[in-house]
Amino acid sequence: MKKTIPFILLLLTACNQPAEKAKPKPDMPMPVATDTAKAALKKLAFDAETDLVCGMPVRAGIEDTLHYKGKLYGFCAKECKEEFLKDPAQYITKK
Ligand SMILES: [Zn+2]
Repeated sequence: MKKTIPFILLLLTACNQPAEKAKPKPDMPMPVATDTAKAALKKLAFDAETDLVCGMPVRAGIEDTLHYKGKLYGFCAKECKEEFLKDPAQYITKK
């Protein structure tokens, strides 16, 4: 009958392997997608200089854009765009 002790010892040894030290992660550059998108948005030529719904200047930072009848509009928020879409003519003629 074979002795099983060596096998058990092997298991114990394996379990006693020092866990790999958690290395501090190198500083990862922050994802810049959002900033890049915002920068790209600023370069866009909008047909209206303001968010037609709330009147905020599009240069101040917009979150959404809309092509409507060949024109490009910027909105500070998705809500403004949705509001605009409810009655685009109203906002365009208001200008
Ligand atoms: Zn707005």
